[in-house]
Amino acid sequence: MSLIKKNIHNITNELKKNNSQPDSAIRLVAVSKGQGQKKILEALNAGHNIFGENYVQEAIDKQKGLTDYKIEWHFIGPIQSNKCKLIAENFQWVQTVDRIKVADKLNMFNTDQTPLNICIQINISNEDTKSGVKIEEIDALADHISTLDKLKLRGLMAIPSNTSEDKILMNEYMQLKMIYENLKFRYSTIDTLSIGMSNDYLLAVENGSNLVRIGSKIFGSR
Ligand SMILES: *Cc1c(COP(=O)(O)O)cnc(C)c1O
Repeated sequence: MSLIKKNIHNITNELKKNNSQPDSAIRLVAVSKGQGQKKILEALNAGHNIFGENYVQEAIDKQKGLTDYKIEWHFIGPIQSNKCKLIAENFQWVQTVDRIKVADKLNMFNTDQTPLNICIQINISNEDTKSGVKIEEIDALADHISTLDKLKLRGLMAIPSNTSEDKILMNEYMQLKMIYENLKFRYSTIDTLSIGMSNDYLLAVENGSNLVRIGSKIFGSR
């Protein structure tokens, strides 16, 4: 078995074991940024077909050689508004929407029949340097996105504080869960809480995440 196949297999099993809501599966996004097409092919051959990328041009270059495969592409990087057309045309999910202007442009440039799946990125650690909306801005952005017919609001994405202090982390997970449940109550399309990377995915799924974005633990270091 290839190492990538083995990694995906092990992570999938761990996710199943630690899922806090065992009646619904956890979505695994394999983050292939900084990795070559060969590694993506290895994952595809292992039966995995959900990938995440941070940089538009890098992603499009790789996608060109993979048109024979049915792949669900997630955009997970910061969004410059002049890249919205390319993002809307080449991805099925955008997890990092953090302002109305970007939502409007993605909506305008999605010419597909199927709506583009959207997560709002929250700046849960509330650091100025981090991307994402502030907690108090979520409702207005969610309301706006829900009126756009080429977008489907699926949920929230966050990167918790980079700390080993349990108290801080638990507080952030708890807040995310509350905001998520509140959105779910208001919009029937909400079903996704995207938290967890290579270093924290088990903790994230124990605390309610149902989508994890894992790169180095699958593909090795970048
Ligand atoms: C790079 C990246 C990941 C994956 O990180 P790993 O630590 O390699 O698993 C997940 N989410 C986002 C937003 C990223 O930029």
